[in-house]
Amino acid sequence: KEVPQFDLGTSVLAITGEPSGTLWLGTVKGLIRKDPVSGVTKTYTHDPRNAHSISSDRVWSVTRDKSGTLWIGTNAGLDHYEPNSDQFLHIRNGNKENNSGVFGLLAKGTDSLLIVQQNAIRLLNTKTFAVSEYRNDLQDSGLLTTVDVRTMYVDREGKLWIGTFLKGLTMLDPITRKTVRYLGNIPTIYQIFEDSYGTIWTMSDEGLFLKKNRDTDFSKFIDEGGRILTEFSSGIIEDEQKNLYFNGINRYLRINLKNFEMVVFEVNQQNVHLNDGDLPDNYIGGAFKNKDGNLYFGTRTGYFVLSPGNMRKNSVPPQITISSIRVNSKPLHTDSTNLTDFIAQQHDEISLEYDQNNIVIEFAGIHYGRPENNQHRYKLENYEQDWHTAIKEKVASYSNLPPGDYIFRIKAANSDGVWSERSLKILILQPWWKTWWAYLFYFSLIAVAVISFDRIQRRRILSKERERSREKELAQAKEIEKAYAALKNTQSQLIHAEKMASLGELTAGIAHEIQNPLNFVNNFSDVNKELLLEMKAEIDAGNLEVAKAMANDIISNEEKIKYHGIKADAIVKSMLQHSKSSSGHKELTEINDLVDEFLKLAYHGMRLKDKNLNVAIESNFDPLLGKVAIIPQDIGRVLLNLYNNAFFAVAQKNQHAEGIYIPTVSVSTKVKADIFEIKVKDNGSGIAENIQYKIFQPFFTTKPTGQGTGLGLSLSYDIIKAHGGEMKVESVEGEGACFIVTLPVDGEA
Ligand code: ADP
Repeated sequence: KEVPQFDLGTSVLAITGEPSGTLWLGTVKGLIRKDPVSGVTKTYTHDPRNAHSISSDRVWSVTRDKSGTLWIGTNAGLDHYEPNSDQFLHIRNGNKENNSGVFGLLAKGTDSLLIVQQNAIRLLNTKTFAVSEYRNDLQDSGLLTTVDVRTMYVDREGKLWIGTFLKGLTMLDPITRKTVRYLGNIPTIYQIFEDSYGTIWTMSDEGLFLKKNRDTDFSKFIDEGGRILTEFSSGIIEDEQKNLYFNGINRYLRINLKNFEMVVFEVNQQNVHLNDGDLPDNYIGGAFKNKDGNLYFGTRTGYFVLSPGNMRKNSVPPQITISSIRVNSKPLHTDSTNLTDFIAQQHDEISLEYDQNNIVIEFAGIHYGRPENNQHRYKLENYEQDWHTAIKEKVASYSNLPPGDYIFRIKAANSDGVWSERSLKILILQPWWKTWWAYLFYFSLIAVAVISFDRIQRRRILSKERERSREKELAQAKEIEKAYAALKNTQSQLIHAEKMASLGELTAGIAHEIQNPLNFVNNFSDVNKELLLEMKAEIDAGNLEVAKAMANDIISNEEKIKYHGIKADAIVKSMLQHSKSSSGHKELTEINDLVDEFLKLAYHGMRLKDKNLNVAIESNFDPLLGKVAIIPQDIGRVLLNLYNNAFFAVAQKNQHAEGIYIPTVSVSTKVKADIFEIKVKDNGSGIAENIQYKIFQPFFTTKPTGQGTGLGLSLSYDIIKAHGGEMKVESVEGEGACFIVTLPVDGEA
């Protein structure tokens, strides 16, 4: 659909119209009047020779007051139009300043007009033409003359809105005379407008803001693309269908006030270069709605008209094409036929390597109506949230896209907002070191590392453990060794103690044995002394025969003394021998003598301890038994032990015996082929059967404390074993015991 454009050959700065349809356009080259019916235009320019011409060719503002008078703000001040004479009247009021540029005009109330000049707002009484500084209302606002007023607006409630440079937006309430300041940080407020819902809109150089009726402050209006819409700053107007239009010079932005949907339309730009000076876009334009609802927008070259009511809907959506894809600054398809094919086939997927991640896509929504009115939006799904609005260039560019699956979506709408959509899948592959099989490889690598580490660790722990247990064993072995040494030591001490104990037993016997020979020696010494004295007397008496006989007696006595001396000597020697620790050497020993000798020693010992006890001794030695190689001290100890036990047993039985009891200990030897046995038998208390197997164990004793060590039989057993012999016991409890020692006859020396 065509938008009618009118070329005036100059930039339009302001537009207003009369109910008749006459249009007034303030331009850089004068004021233009356009007749609606004939289309005839008339341009009013300044003529220095005509006092009733317009005061300047540059017309910043035009407005009609309530009474229908047309007011014109020019570069040289304020004029008003006299329709009857088709002339202008310049408002001077004797003040030179009033002749400076009037940038804005705003009818206020019934008979006053606000005039915006550089650094000042003035108030004109439209009846008397009196001009005054508009100070009263501004008193509190802090604006006064020091502020550049950029735009003004009076809303339906009569509140005056003043947009400034650098001082934000001020609202002046005529009833309360209070001012409120908004948007203090915004450098420039270009336009202010109140829509039919009572929302105040303001376009600034930081974008579009709005304040709904109940809001306390302005908030930013952001469209889907997040764009700042500062280029649409040349006028705001609302149509009858509740759409708001923002003039953007040959383009306009339409916001549907019901749903805030936003559309940008372009009007075919006329290829005209105008030398209108360096006016910024936001001074050019203006927007006006006439009584028919037609909208007029000023442009750099004239104006265009929209008739929102007659707009024919175009229901054919644009066809979207992708015209080029550049990857890393190179076209995706180098030769153009390929690209044509690519596009023709409407491919909807491209696959790229991980380093092909700088992508530029050019697209267009082809529509054969007015393509410049199409709207385009795009978005890269999985990469961004919001849609971009492509206003001029239909190009989307993305750089350094991480690997992933994306969908590039394009939406295009025709000038009537009928949308179509197209999408292109973009696959950026992972680099090989990030693919699933690479991860599998990493995983297995890690797994192998973990397993081998675990193994090594385990092996280390194991060997450590082994080392530790070996050390432990060694320490234990040392302990055992130590304990063994200690045990050995204790054992030898025990053996020694046992030996001393049996020595004690011996002492009595030995003392008794020695006492007899000593008695003989002493007695015979005395006898010999007397004999010698008598012999001397006989010699003196001359009885030589008698003396001789006496001398013979003395000699025979001396022999007896000698005999007993030798006996004592032997006893002492044997005692010494016994107390000596075992030499460990076997000697050929007369067994019967040894058995007899120790029997006597033991018997005397027993007698010394218990004088009242009479024990019958029976001995029966085998004369065939001669010398046998034994360790005599050791076998002697065995015998002594057996005898002591036998005497103890009979003494014990004797104590409790009823009726006639003759304690008897019998000892016998017997040769049997290559062995011989020694039997020590008693008729004592005997040994209970259940302890018979224990008596050879060390420390087993039934004797009262202090009387037995329990070591005797155990040591004896060891000695006999060491001699290659055997020892056993036969006993009936209460009737006596018989110990039988068997030893080899040819024991090695
Ligand atoms: P101790 O004589 O110091 O008790 P022994 O090893 O010589 O140690 O004897 C161990 C035990 O054997 C004795 O306490 C005793 O009970 C028993 N025993 C040894 N000989 C006889 C015996 N002739 N008659 C009865 N019991 C005996």
